[in-house]
Amino acid sequence: MIESTRLQGIGMTSRRTRERLVARLRKAGIVDEQVLERLRDVPRHLFVDEALAHRAYEDTALPIGHGQTISQPFVVALMTQTLLARSPQRVLEVGTGCGYQSAVLAPLVPRLYSVERIEALAQRARDRLRQLSLSQVSLRCGDGYRGLPGAEPFDGIIVTAAPAQLPPALLAQLAPGGRLVVPEGADGVQELAVYDKDTNGSVARQVIDYVRFVPLLPGVTAR
Ligand code: SAH
Repeated sequence: MIESTRLQGIGMTSRRTRERLVARLRKAGIVDEQVLERLRDVPRHLFVDEALAHRAYEDTALPIGHGQTISQPFVVALMTQTLLARSPQRVLEVGTGCGYQSAVLAPLVPRLYSVERIEALAQRARDRLRQLSLSQVSLRCGDGYRGLPGAEPFDGIIVTAAPAQLPPALLAQLAPGGRLVVPEGADGVQELAVYDKDTNGSVARQVIDYVRFVPLLPGVTAR
């Protein structure tokens, strides 16, 4: 009884607060209706600790353990919108974390792969996506510096941890006509860079925003 009242409470609060989040994202320049719909519908409170669930619909990054974070909704929306502008068919995400960005993106692209270096996070993300019936995402534990050899090429790549510079393997696994979105820079504030590879293979880079991501780190680890 107490439990169901509590859940109802969360349900009602979150509907209103989710609409508020979407209004805020619109104001901040997100125009892709599909993306806004996902940001409204994906239950972000299920991707953070219960103790932080009441803050899940604030437009802010939050800790998810293992020294990592769930990305800020505006940045998820901006990166997703930027990636989808090229209608990618095969997408690679580097840095699954809690799986929130994967959940937002999964129904919007035909094929989604996501790679995470911390085994414990990859496993939890897999469980969550299954609960949400989004098990069509291929989640792998691996070192995203290397991309996902064997599954390339991708015509969309979204990197959600910051390398000092774009790892060459990721650019190599980007198909002609593809787009890659990545926060680039050493500690602190990074450039949110967009790389477009044309059909001849030449690459153009533009910076669309400034962001703060956790660093891209080499190697795989259990926790
Ligand atoms: N996409 C997430 C953001 C997660 S934070 C979201 O939706 O909220 C970034 C994640 O990148 C962390 O979980 C971190 O462990 C992971 N990461 C860092 N370096 C990596 C690498 N080389 N390969 C794969 N994942 C990496």
